[in-house]
Amino acid sequence: MSHASKPPVAIVTGAGSGIGRATAELLLDKGWHVAFLDLDTTTLASVLADHGGKPGARFIAVDVVDEAGVAKAVGEAECALGPIKGVVNSAGIAANKPVFDTSAEMFRRILDVNVVGSFVVGREAARRMQATGGGAIVNIASISGIRGSKARVAYGASKGAVITMTKVMATELAEFGIRVNAVAPGPVETAMVRAHHTAEDRLLYGRFTPMRRYAEPREIAAGALFLLDESQSSFVTGEILAVDGGYRGAGLVGDAG
Ligand code: NAD
Repeated sequence: MSHASKPPVAIVTGAGSGIGRATAELLLDKGWHVAFLDLDTTTLASVLADHGGKPGARFIAVDVVDEAGVAKAVGEAECALGPIKGVVNSAGIAANKPVFDTSAEMFRRILDVNVVGSFVVGREAARRMQATGGGAIVNIASISGIRGSKARVAYGASKGAVITMTKVMATELAEFGIRVNAVAPGPVETAMVRAHHTAEDRLLYGRFTPMRRYAEPREIAAGALFLLDESQSSFVTGEILAVDGGYRGAGLVGDAG
């Protein structure tokens, strides 16, 4: 993308780590100006150390479930960088717990961060995009929101909700020139996966993923960039893009080797 005049501006949540960080970095590389939002000030500080000198990067500590904090952070990003054209909701939490080990409290917390947090950020940005000619929102869902994998009752339900929310917001916001899509990644090598995936998870994903590997965060970022970029996906909205090495579409995969 070439920007003779003003670079487009994006907000990326969860930008301190993993998919969010890779997406924010890819956007910066492609000439966007980017507000990196994250709850974790330690990871944010490490990103700041790498990109803090760049004029188009801003770093804002915020919890996506804090409605007032999100409104302030989005306002701050717009004030510093200009009208927001893109949002990537990558902030999220996971649990790898069977049904009987999942408390209502844990279930609510996961829904709060993954669903309500993405909603609050998307709605706040959409209010501003509505006034400035539109834009695009990309939610990072998951194949766990499409297929019923074991030990993901709360996480999978939260991502299923993100997928439906994406379709509803796409339908309502089209008239304002706002496109809303989601990326549904398969397993990706990030801090989240290192914390939650067991050896059995790795074995099973290896068996049921035709491409037989985990993704790198930048491969998910590329999907998000496609959906954000008006020049590439101007007629795409309400879509769920699986970036999963073939997992969602696969039938009989056969054993590796
Ligand atoms: P990660 O743990 O590496 O990064 C998540 C980031 O979100 C962290 O920096 C964390 O501080 C931030 N965060 C968490 N709660 C927050 C909150 N309340 N407010 C603001 N920031 C918050 O994880 P990741 O693997 O990069 O995951 C990113 C997104 O991708 C998540 O939504 C996750 O569910 C989804 N996803 C990941 C995978 C995978 O295999 N890694 C697969 C499918 C979907």
